Amino acid sequence: MPDPADYPRWALSWRNIVAPCVKCQGRGGVTYKSRAAWRETPRHHRIHRAPTYAVCDQCWGSGDRDRRWANLREMEAHASDLQSEIHLLQRRIEALKGS
Ligand SMILES: [Zn+2]
Repeated sequence: MPDPADYPRWALSWRNIVAPCVKCQGRGGVTYKSRAAWRETPRHHRIHRAPTYAVCDQCWGSGDRDRRWANLREMEAHASDLQSEIHLLQRRIEALKGS
């Protein structure tokens, strides 16, 4: 077991973190002010204010600022774009069936 004073450094090396993320200091997660966590909520949306621990939106969980994991915000936006395309194509297919 490491000396408790060395624990932060030991924990970073255990996670193979070379350059700790500035936002989460290598933890990979942070506490957000609302349940939306890393999701951006439109201004008109009601925000559920409750401290919520979730994946860090700078390193996306890796804890290392130079080796970020998959950006969930971008993935979610991409999934939403694909969902819109699917709906559009379904409408076109239905229109072609009707003609
Ligand atoms: Zn981070």
